[in-house]
Amino acid sequence: MALWSKQFSKTIIDFFFPAYCIGCGKEGGFLCDNCCRNLPRIQSPYCDRCGKPEVSGTLCSICWGWKANIDGIRSPFRFDGIIRQAVHELKYHNLKAITECLAELLFSYLEGNQIPVDVLVPVPLHKKRLRKRGYNQSSLIAKRLGRLATLPVIDDCLVRSKDSQPQTRTNAVNERQANVSDAFVCSDNRLKGKQVLLIDDVCTSGATLEACAVAAKAVGVSSVWGLTLAREA
Ligand SMILES: [Zn+2]
Ligand SMILES: [Zn+2]
Repeated sequence: MALWSKQFSKTIIDFFFPAYCIGCGKEGGFLCDNCCRNLPRIQSPYCDRCGKPEVSGTLCSICWGWKANIDGIRSPFRFDGIIRQAVHELKYHNLKAITECLAELLFSYLEGNQIPVDVLVPVPLHKKRLRKRGYNQSSLIAKRLGRLATLPVIDDCLVRSKDSQPQTRTNAVNERQANVSDAFVCSDNRLKGKQVLLIDDVCTSGATLEACAVAAKAVGVSSVWGLTLAREA
C-alpha cells in the first residue's frame, strides 16, 4: 500500500473508531502525554539480574542464591495503574490496537538501556490457551517491537509443551518454578549462537522466563535476556 493511502486509511479508522486514553479517557490515543508521564516507572537502583527495585543496586536477596540460566530481566514499569489496565485490555478485552503503544514504550526502553539482543522471541502460550484466546499478546508486542527496532522475531521455535497454571503472586517461589520448570522446549536450532531477548507482558516471579532460558540454552544460544512491559515489584 502506498504511504499516502496508508495514512488515509488510518485517518478514516481514527475518525470512525477514535482511541481514548485508558488512563483519563481523553480522545486521541490509548495513552495521552500526561498519563504517559505518570506511568509507574521502575527507576534505578534495581537488582542487576532480575530488575526488581533494590536499594543496593547489585543483586537482590533472591538472586544471590540463584544459579540462573537467564542472564537478566528488565521491565520498564511496575504492574500497576494504567500499565496493569493496558495489559488487561490487551489480554482479556481483545484490544489488540493497544499493542502499538505498548511496543513503543518497550522500544524507547531498549533505546535507553543496554540489553544484548540479536533476535526477539515472545514467550509462547500453550496451544490450548492460544486457541482459546485467539492470539498471543506477547507475540503481538514482539512483532511490533521488531518492526520499530528493526530486529528479527522468531515466534515458532520456542514452544510451550506443558500447559501450566498461570502464575500468581501468592504461589511460593519454588512452587512457581516447579510449575513451569520443564514447560518449554526449542523445536529446532535456529536460536543457536544468538543473543535472545525474550518478550512478555508481565514478569511475576521470573520463573517463566527462567524456564524459557533453560530451553534456549539447551540449543546453545549465546545469551538470554528477558524484557517485559511490567513486573510485579
Ligand atoms: Zn490520559
Ligand atoms: Zn534479583
